[in-house]
Amino acid sequence: MNTVLIIDDDPDYRKFMGGLLKDRGWQLLEAESGNAGIELAKLHRPDVVLCDLLMASGNGFQVCRELRGNDDLRHTKIVVVSGRHVEKDRQAAFKAGADEYVTKPIDPDRLVLLLSRIVARSGSVAAPPAPVVPLAPGPAYVRFWGVRGSIPTPGPTTVQYGGNTSCVEVRADGQIIILDAGTGMRLLGQQLAAEFESQPIDATLLLTHTHWDHIQGLPFFQPVYKPQNHLRILGFEGARHGLEVVLAGQMESPFFPIGLREVPANVRIEELQEMSFNVGPVRVEATFANHPGICVGYRLFTSGGSIAFFPDNEPFPEAAPPTRAAGGAEASARPFAKSENRKMIEFLRGTDVLIMDTQYDANEYKHHTGWGHGCPDDVVSLALEAEVKTLYLFHHDPSHDDAKISQMLEQARKLVAARKGNLHIEAAREGAMVELPARVQA
Ligand SMILES: [Zn+2]
Ligand SMILES: [Zn+2]
Repeated sequence: MNTVLIIDDDPDYRKFMGGLLKDRGWQLLEAESGNAGIELAKLHRPDVVLCDLLMASGNGFQVCRELRGNDDLRHTKIVVVSGRHVEKDRQAAFKAGADEYVTKPIDPDRLVLLLSRIVARSGSVAAPPAPVVPLAPGPAYVRFWGVRGSIPTPGPTTVQYGGNTSCVEVRADGQIIILDAGTGMRLLGQQLAAEFESQPIDATLLLTHTHWDHIQGLPFFQPVYKPQNHLRILGFEGARHGLEVVLAGQMESPFFPIGLREVPANVRIEELQEMSFNVGPVRVEATFANHPGICVGYRLFTSGGSIAFFPDNEPFPEAAPPTRAAGGAEASARPFAKSENRKMIEFLRGTDVLIMDTQYDANEYKHHTGWGHGCPDDVVSLALEAEVKTLYLFHHDPSHDDAKISQMLEQARKLVAARKGNLHIEAAREGAMVELPARVQA
């Protein structure tokens, strides 16, 4: 039986929460102040301390620090509860040693669920990781669920290519790999829920970066609301904040009613430290993209071919106009651009399916150099030099309607023909599926 210590100066709250937890089989301890709670915790070593933040005699921060300073209480998880939605408080609580931080008003059932989960989590530290449920070896494919950049653009002028933001699914070698969590992820979630029904879903989400158009679908991804599912989220730390802080931040009140740490599924967020790693048998290589903040692209090596994903990237302009950099800086910018593009070409060499940012047409790009997005002309050059087999134009500009995207596609194909290249080009379209092994279409 797990023991919970409720430290709160509100007797009604202690009675209510205590009753609820008792009903669910918890053993209960209560204290009306931080200092009294610290003494009780030392005496009884509870599994969880549920501690109010603002109390006259020993506040929540003090409780955290005191318990964390005690070696006998290493196993004790601390959940700090606050009525204030202040980010600084949250950060200070984690710094003081809290394991979770929740803000009032709290749905009691969700709180009970959270406590059960963190106890289960601590119990599993020494235990081997949960077995991965192998998928039946099904068809391998790449499927586009969101292809738009910057912001969703529903409406009659975007029905052909779609209006949802960046999300691509890769099924290969028994893995479900999701590339980015833009609004297209909601549709993918519905599809997975229908496909798996009550069977557990085990998926890995690779994030390129945390701009809105790459993360906003996560709160609407149906599988995270079912306890049998596992979602492992991998990405690099964004500018200023850790990955978890950013992802949880968009689900905090007042932005969203349910916190990321409260969802029933097993969601693990891991900041990547290496540029090369594995998702099951799929080897993944990452490299930094030319885009504001920390942004990467991935290349997945599956048994059905390799897929490279660069939703946001600007090939370095090698023939920059003189206004971009003055004097000597201009002269040194070109060799730098050349060498960076060379690195990208090597990274992409021989890719079967390349999905790459071509947000602007060549004309628009002239007015957007340095914004971190590319145009088909530069991307086609990169792809030809890297001997890519199929290129998908991606991250369509919100102001481009279907006709414009088709026109850009035609233009890109003409560039290949003019250079007598072998590259096949498509414009990524919501719902489109590319079977693996990838075959170049005639
Ligand atoms: Zn973007
Ligand atoms: Zn971006």
